[in-house]
Amino acid sequence: MSEIEVIGDRVRAIKERLAALAGARPVKLMAVTKFQDRELAMAAVDAGVDAIGENRVQEAQDKWGHVRPPVPLHAIGHVQTNKVKYAIGLFDSIDTLDSVRIRKALDEKLDRRLPVMVEVNVGREVSKYGLDPGEVPGFLAEAQRFRWLDVTGLMTVLPKARDNSVEESRRIRQHMQEMANLWRMCRSEGWPWAPLDELSMGMSGDWEWAVEAGATVVRLGSRIFGLRTNAVRN
Ligand SMILES: *Cc1c(COP(=O)(O)O)cnc(C)c1O
Repeated sequence: MSEIEVIGDRVRAIKERLAALAGARPVKLMAVTKFQDRELAMAAVDAGVDAIGENRVQEAQDKWGHVRPPVPLHAIGHVQTNKVKYAIGLFDSIDTLDSVRIRKALDEKLDRRLPVMVEVNVGREVSKYGLDPGEVPGFLAEAQRFRWLDVTGLMTVLPKARDNSVEESRRIRQHMQEMANLWRMCRSEGWPWAPLDELSMGMSGDWEWAVEAGATVVRLGSRIFGLRTNAVRN
């Protein structure tokens, strides 16, 4: 089987499992195509992923700047303020709104509406971007003043499990529960400028738990493309 066929089979198997886990609830599958070339990324799109996620503005620009993917392209990595101009010309959604600074930079450069998600550092890890969970309600309440940004959801990169122990799985699932609670609580405010339809949570190692906890988008890279050994890096 060719690599393209393997990718297609993986996507179809994931979608089946996703449907079984989510029941009637629609959950989107985002293919994370960092380090993958366009041909392999398109194999995932052809097999039915709902969106594409890219981490780095430059890589996304090289890959998708001229030939846009037929599904929405999301920024899922931190966007530096000096890359904002390129990012808004390229992405259909920026899922990593992680500071007031970047919010201001986006609002200043935009001249049309742009969907964004607020990134939450639910594990409170110093190595990660994102707002502290406690800051999120205030940030969203203030979002009424965002001129061009529509806050469509919350996004998080969860801590990694250190091992396969029951304690670790419990710890990760508690973070997922905390995220789901925060999302529901903020949604119940009914802010017209922050409909928060999406909760983007879960990656290759933990996506099934994330769906069980209420995620509406899961972001899968290695589960679709394999480990990034033959990576195309630029
Ligand atoms: C790389 C990445 C993913 C996908 O990771 P896998 O473990 O390969 O599924 C998801 N979200 C973000 C923000 C990433 O950087």
